[in-house]
Amino acid sequence: MTRIIAVANQKGGVGKTTTAVNLAAALAETKRKVLLIDLDPQGNATMAAGVDKRTAKPSGCEVLLEEAAIEDVIQTTEAGFDLLPGSGDLTAAELKLMDTLAREMRLKDQLAKLGDRYHTILIDCPPTLHLLTINALTAAHGVLIPVQCEYFALEGLSSLLDTIKAVRARLNPRLEIEGLLRTMYDVRNNLGNEVSLQLTKHFGDKVFRSIIPRNVRLAEAPSHGKPINLYDRESRGAIAYLGLAGEMLRRERGPAAVEAATH
Ligand code: ATP
Ligand code: MG
Repeated sequence: MTRIIAVANQKGGVGKTTTAVNLAAALAETKRKVLLIDLDPQGNATMAAGVDKRTAKPSGCEVLLEEAAIEDVIQTTEAGFDLLPGSGDLTAAELKLMDTLAREMRLKDQLAKLGDRYHTILIDCPPTLHLLTINALTAAHGVLIPVQCEYFALEGLSSLLDTIKAVRARLNPRLEIEGLLRTMYDVRNNLGNEVSLQLTKHFGDKVFRSIIPRNVRLAEAPSHGKPINLYDRESRGAIAYLGLAGEMLRRERGPAAVEAATH
């Protein structure tokens, strides 16, 4: 069965795209069939996956507006995962969808057409809680919430949690919190430890054990159009995202499945 995970946090710059792209690449390394959906008009995940958002047409916009078949829009990437590209056109799609019936269900309906073709579908959400993110949450089984380990990290989490609750009540009862992921963690900064403690206090075992360190290689990789495992696979960032992929597989299926997937 396909597991659909929305990577969401309306706070900007917390590591959503970095996580979506590098987790997609790490999961693809375990021989999983992975689809990454760039649902952010910024198109950062598309570029980071090595696809030019300016020439990727049709893209997610046409899929949401039912002007193109999703199978025709999906591309393969060098890292071994598939990509549904996104671009500024998604802003137009969001506006046009406002006036349509069942506008929150568009992405879910399109993904249903893919059947069980993928093990995992990751959706990179924009830094808002508007219709594009609501579409992602309506289609998803789980929400992965990157949290940057610094000041005001927890600020705004309550509106995301309220949105998740509302979507669960009205649109998608199966929606779970996949986990909270600590990103850009700096061991030399006490604040990171404090935020980390607060998170585990509030969310307990919903906080992933894997922690993504602040690592300059992760910040460099997108400008080369490569996920971290193709850019510098020995880097701490690459190792951390492989660790996260492993943790997710263990959580999902138990240790036996991880053995099977990596051998
Ligand atoms: P937005 O809300 O704009 O979509 P985002 O939540 O997707 O942002 P990213 O784009 O992943 O956040 O990250 C923001 C910036 O921080 C980027 O320049 C990225 O390269 C950098 N970055 C992300 N994670 C790390 C990390 N672990 N170490 C160092 N730099 C990082
Ligand atoms: Mg982003």
